[in-house]
Order: sequence, then structure tokens, then C-alpha cells
Amino acid sequence: WVTTAENPPVRIRPEIAATQPYRQGRQAAPDAFKLSSNESPFAPHPAVTAAIAEATINRYPDASAQALRDVLAARHGVSSDMVHVGAGSVSILSQLIQAVAGPGDEVIYSWRSFEAYPGLVTVAGANSVQVPSLTDHRHDLPAMAAAVTERTRAIIVCSPNNPTGTIVTEDEFTAFMAEVPRSVLVMFDEAYIEFAGPDAARGPALLAEHPNLVVLKTFSKAYGLAGLRIGYGLGAPYILDAARATAIPLSVTEQGQRAALAALAHEDDYRQQLDEIIARREQITDALIAQGWKVPRSHGNFVWLPTGDFTTAAAELFMERGIVARALGEGIRISIGEAESVDTLLKAAAEVVAKLP
Ligand code: PMP
Repeated sequence: WVTTAENPPVRIRPEIAATQPYRQGRQAAPDAFKLSSNESPFAPHPAVTAAIAEATINRYPDASAQALRDVLAARHGVSSDMVHVGAGSVSILSQLIQAVAGPGDEVIYSWRSFEAYPGLVTVAGANSVQVPSLTDHRHDLPAMAAAVTERTRAIIVCSPNNPTGTIVTEDEFTAFMAEVPRSVLVMFDEAYIEFAGPDAARGPALLAEHPNLVVLKTFSKAYGLAGLRIGYGLGAPYILDAARATAIPLSVTEQGQRAALAALAHEDDYRQQLDEIIARREQITDALIAQGWKVPRSHGNFVWLPTGDFTTAAAELFMERGIVARALGEGIRISIGEAESVDTLLKAAAEVVAKLP
């Protein structure tokens, strides 16, 4: 697009001009397994499909998502003003960051973690403070608490952590919260909690003790509704009201709301899917360790393969062998997919590990 003296460029905020748009995991070639976005490999529940078909399309959705909030409130034993629904939990993260942090403010999170965090902080005009994770890939919670300054407005804790699969225990979280000033918002991102073992802290159980805590949950992973964009936050009504004030109006569709309600009404049917993914994750992790990979034990629906400087080449090799994986800095994240993907994945992984320097 040519700009001239008469048509000078529109001024883009410099920090936005320097920011890459969120990079989605690659789409799969027709004969490849797409294991790059931590999606559910299962077909939608028939009740979900039926619920979507009933949605009104020519009218705007209920912006308050009242019916869904009532059900979620009952499920978590809170009042419905402690529930906020968004177009995926990433929307709510964005809304909360916008609500509390602006230019010059700081948002702390562990790194490496969910790759959307840096961009969301930048869009708010705030600065990311990335605290390196421990060598076993867990959050360094004491260092995160110690990183708080008078400019800190929010901290994001991700458990299970995307992309490494590590968790925060309840004791660790409680000790961390004791160090964090109550004026700092703590966002507990538990997008993958349904895949985690009993040692992982459960966000909703912590709400009563910690008034500055918001728990973020999603229907994208365990419930397989990623394409419908529906997630929610639990926390103090005044904090969620602030998130609502920064939200793009009417972005949560009726399809999403109805689908979430249908999924919750058939929750027991999802248990078998979760068990299947968890069992497959353990099988894959054991096999990868036997191949020589240093894979951390994952509590998510994915595994993390440290590949260091070889990451780009390793992702290419996986691609050539029919596995679309996600290259993220110093490692590769591979989602646990359909049963048919396991052999292809393990064969490719054996080839890649043999080539690691
Ligand atoms: N948090 C984490 C840690 C994630 O990995 C993801 C999805 N990749 C999200 C939040 C966002 O999920 P959604 O917006 O689909 O609810």
C-alpha cells in the first residue's frame, strides 16, 4: 500500500506495529494429524449439535449469558454475579488485563507459558514481566511474587501450564498468595484443569480465601467446543464488572451459550473422553521417555518436547512425517489426539530424537 506526502501513513501505535498477530497452529494437510492447538479430537456430543441447531441467528444473543451463568454458579457454589462469560477464556484474559493495566503498568507471568499472554499485555499498553520457569518447567512462584513492584497490576498463573504441562499445587498457590499484595489481580488460568491429577490446585476452591483472584475456565478443551468460542471467569463481582466494561459487546454467541449448557447437562459423558486422553498422554509420555526424550510429566492434553536450537527443523520433520506440531521457542508441543495418531507420532518422534544434537 503506497503512502505519499499527500497520503501519509495512518499512525499505528508503535508497540502495536512491533507486535506480531497471534500465530495459530498450522492447519493440517489432508493426510496429516493436526496436533498443534490442543483441541479435542472427538466429534461433538449429539446434545451439543442439537442445541446449536436451535439457536436464533437473526437476533443478537443474550449479552449477559444469564442462563449459562446461573448453571455455572450452581455448579461452583457461587452467586451468578461471580460468573462472567466470554468468547473463549482468552477474551476474558484480555478484558481483565485491559481493566487493570495501562501504559507503564506491569503484568507478571511465568515464561514459557501461553503464547497469547505477551500480546494481550502489549495491546493494553502495559509491560510484560516474564519470570523464567524452573529447570523442571514449573512456575517459579517465589520469584514471581518477588517480582511485584508498585507498578504491578496483575499476575497470571497457568496451571496446568501451556505448553509444558506442569502444575501448581494448592500449598504452593496459598504460599504465593500470602506474598502478593491484595491490590494485585491474580488470574488463575486453568484451561486444562480437567486433564490434571489430584495434586493440582483447583481454582474455584481458592476463591473464598483470595478476594483478588479470578479463575479462568474454558469449554474449548475438555468439552471440545473450541470452534464456538466460549469460556468463563469466576471472581469478585466488582472485578468481573470491570471486565464486562472492557468487553467487545455481544461477542458471545447464542450457539456458544447453548452448546455450553448442553455440554454441562451431559457432563458424565465427557468423563470417558477425558480418561481416554489422559491414558493416551501417559502412554505417549512413557514411550517418548523410553526413546530418550526429556519430557516433563504433563497434566494437560499435550506433551512438551524440549528441542532447543533444533526446534524449527524438528517441527519440519514432524510435518513431513504427518504430524502437525507446534514449535514454540525452545521446544515442541504436541497435543494428544485420536488413537490413530499415536503410531505416526511415536515413529516421527523416534526419528527426531535420533537427530537431536
Ligand atoms: N489459556 C490457556 C493456557 C490456553 O492454552 C488457551 C487456549 N490455547 C486459552 C487460555 C484460551 O482458550 P479459549 O479462548 O479457547 O477459551
